[in-house]
Amino acid sequence: MSASADVEAIRARLRDELGTLVVDAPESVAFVYPSPYHTGMSSLGFQTLYRSVNQRAGRAAHRAFLPDDVAEARQSRAPLLTYEALRPVSSYSVLALSVAYELELAGVVECLELSGLPPLAEERDQRHPIVLAGGPLTFSNPLPLAPFVDVILMGEADETIHHALDIIFSAGDRDTVLRELADRIPSAFVPSLHGDAMPPVEKANDACLPAYSQILTPHTELREMFLVEPERGCHRGCEYCVMRRSTNDGMRTFDIDKVLSLVPEQARRVGLVGAATTDHPRIADLVEALADSGREVGLSSLRADRLNDRLCTALRRAGQTVLTTASDGASQRMRERIQRRAPESVLVSAAEFARAHGFKRLKLYMMLGLPGEEDEDVEELIEFSVRLSKIAPLSLGIAPFVAKRNTPLDGAGFAGIKLVDRRLDRLRKGVRGKVDVRGTSARWAWVEYVLAQGGQAEGRAVLDAVHNGGAFRAWKDAFDALPPERPTRALVRPGNRLGRALQVLG
Ligand code: SF4
Repeated sequence: MSASADVEAIRARLRDELGTLVVDAPESVAFVYPSPYHTGMSSLGFQTLYRSVNQRAGRAAHRAFLPDDVAEARQSRAPLLTYEALRPVSSYSVLALSVAYELELAGVVECLELSGLPPLAEERDQRHPIVLAGGPLTFSNPLPLAPFVDVILMGEADETIHHALDIIFSAGDRDTVLRELADRIPSAFVPSLHGDAMPPVEKANDACLPAYSQILTPHTELREMFLVEPERGCHRGCEYCVMRRSTNDGMRTFDIDKVLSLVPEQARRVGLVGAATTDHPRIADLVEALADSGREVGLSSLRADRLNDRLCTALRRAGQTVLTTASDGASQRMRERIQRRAPESVLVSAAEFARAHGFKRLKLYMMLGLPGEEDEDVEELIEFSVRLSKIAPLSLGIAPFVAKRNTPLDGAGFAGIKLVDRRLDRLRKGVRGKVDVRGTSARWAWVEYVLAQGGQAEGRAVLDAVHNGGAFRAWKDAFDALPPERPTRALVRPGNRLGRALQVLG
């Protein structure tokens, strides 16, 4: 796409937005999302910080996104532009990245290069913007992001983003800025000063919460849906999850009148976002109030053990046609192993609720490849799924298990691409014609796993993978080329997780 076509595409999207903030201020920040617009605009954190920075006197946040067609953007050599100002990202003195998960690291490299910036922080100097980053990835393992950025704000950045910008815009030269960020913000990780030693995550003051959307647009995965969080975090203790109670003191719930007061009149669809929305003590009241006002409601997390007739009735009135929840382990034994509170009886009840309330289907998310999983667990899943499908039409969404840092299952190996594919095949055959099965790629789960368990060396390998086309083979070659003695935690711990990860391809 040429530069003029880029500009026209941006203008067309802006025309369809409601709530865009066009602020011109001396201290402006390029807010860059390393995935395309339709994904980035579904990020509640990105939208919330965009508003928060624009509301500060003298400061402006302008958005930019990974182009929809990166190969074409590279070929055209058109610079990455911000939406609000149509300015090249490289012309800003600060670039703020929001990174949700490991595979977006490729988008980080692409965005920096499309902006005309050296992707490695060590190759940038006084002429270049300060690149800061934050987002959900910081709750697990942002170490592979470290080679590309100057500072990472760990955890909830609702307040620290302002402290960081205050320092960046006032401290003078680059070295002074980085030193002051490291000295004055306890949750600021400055890789050039801290090495691999990451500080603890930040917890934002409750006064900053809840987060809510600023812009409504038809061009997102959650089309024209206003997002708001009735709660943040989770008090449960599932062993694989980064949102578990050990992160940020567990769950914080917000008053539903406050939540309702934030929903704008024109929003006809409302997404209730949070790790455990149905654990909010007044979730049924909230869904009912939104349904009463004629709105459609989506829930990001529905726990099967919280279902009851009242909540199901409210969800149906609010336009839900599919009852979606998670069981996560293939068998009762695996669910107990990961401390997932979803016994068979609760899942059978969920199917009965789906049938009784006229949902089109029950959708269950789960993982294959958990530590200790055997073929028998998959056989149990087949038998149980067929049983559930006799109560209500059933879909299974299957993701390979990826061990994350800051969870009790940190360090568990990847089950293996062949093994996960074989079990997924067996599952598909076992339930054929009775249950719909959607599985995510075991290959990309393995890439995610290496990055999730890796360090800065794995981060640098992202650069090679991107430069060699970004296909799976390029990632495998990039990881294979890493020196075995690289300084990752895996090498200093018994069991050498990365070594195991690299063997599982065979
Ligand atoms: S998997 Fe869900 S219920 Fe379990 S700790 Fe994570 S967010 Fe909570």
